[in-house]
Amino acid sequence: MKIDQHTILYGVLGRPVGHSLSPTMHNAAFSAKGINAVYLAFETEDLEGAVRGLKALNIKGASITIPFKSQIIPYLDEIDPLASRIGAINTIVNRDRRLMGFNTDASGALRALEERIALSGKSCLIIGAGGAARAIGTALKEKGVNISIANRSPDRGNSLAASLECPFVQLKDLGDTKTDLMIQTTPVGMYPDVDLCPIPEHMLKKGSVVMDVIYNPIETKLLKLAKRNGCHTINGIHMFVFQGSEQFRMWTGLDPPIDVMTRSVRKALEKRF
Ligand code: NAP
Repeated sequence: MKIDQHTILYGVLGRPVGHSLSPTMHNAAFSAKGINAVYLAFETEDLEGAVRGLKALNIKGASITIPFKSQIIPYLDEIDPLASRIGAINTIVNRDRRLMGFNTDASGALRALEERIALSGKSCLIIGAGGAARAIGTALKEKGVNISIANRSPDRGNSLAASLECPFVQLKDLGDTKTDLMIQTTPVGMYPDVDLCPIPEHMLKKGSVVMDVIYNPIETKLLKLAKRNGCHTINGIHMFVFQGSEQFRMWTGLDPPIDVMTRSVRKALEKRF
């Protein structure tokens, strides 16, 4: 890739960002589309300074990751209504030095799900009540899905269930309920703890759809068990690529090269694990 005086800069702001696959994915997309741009990982403790830097240097867009997804809201000029309802931002678009905040985790997850299941009227158990669960739950509720939440700690679980106006159960009390869809949003089963699964196997019912947002490993223990029990499975790469492809579309106005983005992420993960 040729870098010159016209090269446009994008990046991810977070802490830590050393394991982020966003640079790999977005740089592969820019290269495939012949766009003169680069995407870097910016690890920072100084969020306010970083946001001032985005404006001052006219950096055209950024991804926002842990721990800044909610903290960044007061520093932005405009917030998309869905992102505002979720209370978290994962994407900034710089339009003429006005910073606009969006949440493509929500739209990315929806797209990953809608490729496999018509959502309206379906029942869904969300495992976890953190940022990913909040984004996915808010988007699913607006699609007419009947949600319930299971979480380890009652505080966070009850708080998300109250804002989604849905039932909550503590993870340890989860009974033998059957839902059309189950979405796993905790880090349980993530590398290196790849032999962990947050729910008992008997909860995995034949014909249901099980999505895990974890993508390292690509096939978690939960997804392996779900397959063994006749469930349809969706791994975390789909959500990750769709949230990134939506960012690419917002930043460039072009159709994202989804195959290229998926391949780059898969290759990086296969090399890593
Ligand atoms: P978060 O806000 O920190 O929430 C973590 C959630 O997991 C909380 O509900 C927490 O429960 C629960 N949890 C943590 N450790 C647990 C354990 N040992 N047993 C049971 N529950 C546990 O994190 P997040 O931002 O939602 O991210 C969660 C996962 O999603 C991460 O693995 C992240 O990489 C992944 N993610 C993937 C994508 C994608 O595009 N595929 C996008 C966003 C996030 P408590 O309330 O009890 O602490």
